[in-house]
Amino acid sequence: MQPEKLSPYLKNLIDRTDSPALKRQFLPSEDEKILSPYDNEDPLEERRFSLTPFLVHRYPDRALWLTTPQCAAACRYCFRKHRLCGAGEPTEADVNEACACLKSRLGIEEILLSGGDPLTLSDERLTELLHRFSSVRPFRFRICTRIPTVAPQRITDALLRALRLYRVRFSVHINCTDELTEDAVAALREIRSAGFEILTQTVLLRGVNDSEKELSALFKRFSEMDLTPYYLFQGDLAAETAAYRVSIQTGRRLYRRVRQRLYREKIPRYAVDLPDGGGKVCIEANRIIGVRGRRVLFRSDSGRLFAYPIE
Ligand code: SF4
Repeated sequence: MQPEKLSPYLKNLIDRTDSPALKRQFLPSEDEKILSPYDNEDPLEERRFSLTPFLVHRYPDRALWLTTPQCAAACRYCFRKHRLCGAGEPTEADVNEACACLKSRLGIEEILLSGGDPLTLSDERLTELLHRFSSVRPFRFRICTRIPTVAPQRITDALLRALRLYRVRFSVHINCTDELTEDAVAALREIRSAGFEILTQTVLLRGVNDSEKELSALFKRFSEMDLTPYYLFQGDLAAETAAYRVSIQTGRRLYRRVRQRLYREKIPRYAVDLPDGGGKVCIEANRIIGVRGRRVLFRSDSGRLFAYPIE
């Protein structure tokens, strides 16, 4: 089982609020021992799509850089936890190798910095990395982070000033309204005030946000804070996360009910990262071909069929 890791801010918040949704996301649980035959240590097949040890290229126009294995807090349902556990930091030679690769892949326009959490790096290391990639060509960058809700004090004027020199947008992972404390909201506001777009990323999780009331309230808060609703993700088939996944039928029912309550533009797309490397598809966008046995069949962007299990 993944060791517990909490930022001091998050530890204090959990102690103070006793929030079940926060405890479920961050405190180790016996539920992690519940296994499913579909569990996979690399559910998105990122190893197969890796150009170099830290550079993943699955979609034509963007690549993913695994910036660091460090996070400010360890999410129990993380789909990358087996890859991160014990992994090292990319070295100078790894960055050189990635730059050489990017040079020859002219279709790549955006680099997603993920990990781990790229905002656990110092301002200097992060901007040095952006500088190195930008010297290949002027990429757009997406910083995929959980920091605003687990260590909001990391969002400083100095960080935002440094990032303004690059074409950056944020993809912030937020799963429930209990994460939107005054400090978290202030951090998100500072990012927006500095001129950066914030795309939201929410994972549908059993015992955290699997109710019409919680999801509607969360998406309403996103809209009030001027965040761009982006994705609500079906849980990936990651090892030790079966008890955190909501079944796809329940997810679809919930999503339809939330859509009836809120304006369509306030709602992120409900999407699944298909097993066996099928990539992301929107669950409600006519991608479902049918149900075969205990599996839902999807047609991916490439036109191939992929199955997601009914658990
Ligand atoms: S912050 Fe992201 S990478 Fe880190 S543990 Fe949570 S989900 Fe995984």
